[in-house]
Amino acid sequence: MQQFPERLLNGYRNFMSGRYADERERYQSLAEGGQRPHTLVIACCDSRSAPETIFDCGPGELFVVRNVANMVPPYEPDGQYHATSAAIEFAVQALKIANIVVMGHGRCGGIQAALDPDMEPLSPGDFIGKWMGLLRPAAGQIQSNNLMTQGERQTALERVSIRNSIGNLRTFPYVRALEEQGKIALHGAWFDISTGELWVMDGKTGDFARPSRQAAEVAAESEPEPADD
Ligand SMILES: [Zn+2]
Repeated sequence: MQQFPERLLNGYRNFMSGRYADERERYQSLAEGGQRPHTLVIACCDSRSAPETIFDCGPGELFVVRNVANMVPPYEPDGQYHATSAAIEFAVQALKIANIVVMGHGRCGGIQAALDPDMEPLSPGDFIGKWMGLLRPAAGQIQSNNLMTQGERQTALERVSIRNSIGNLRTFPYVRALEEQGKIALHGAWFDISTGELWVMDGKTGDFARPSRQAAEVAAESEPEPADD
């Protein structure tokens, strides 16, 4: 019989003696009372972009769906298998979450595959090529822009993809209705793995800026000057 990975068993033991021990009551009340997460996060499968880690959230706070390149497909009730749409439906209809965050990230392998479909090892294969086809029109336009470097094209498509997913969220009738009623808010974010900075999308312009850094700068500026005595 295969051994369960030792790294995971060790991590689990640390979890039991650390976080679970510290938050036992919270876990028990979540077990008895059910979950009431405030936010649905749609993130990439990438091992470096875990939403619970980046947002420092505890159990019961985030309802998370992760897929290759954090994409939302359009609303297509066609009888096919739609894992991401099922998660959106459950979060919005059953859990009545207040926010949806689509979070992309830098150096995304899925986005790279959309820009270069023949790239090894992300060949079109059985599923990735079809899935990344959701971005084909945007990828084609960005790929043909010879004024940009490959790195610039990659970042551009990562961000365009987030706006594209938010547009697709609005094709879900209940998401659109709840947003119009002010009961749900849609957000975009992009995480820079190399610096740890989170860029948040402006809902009106679609531009990305770093609010955490801005907040830190504002705090530094408003700090009283050290008195010279
Ligand atoms: Zn990714």
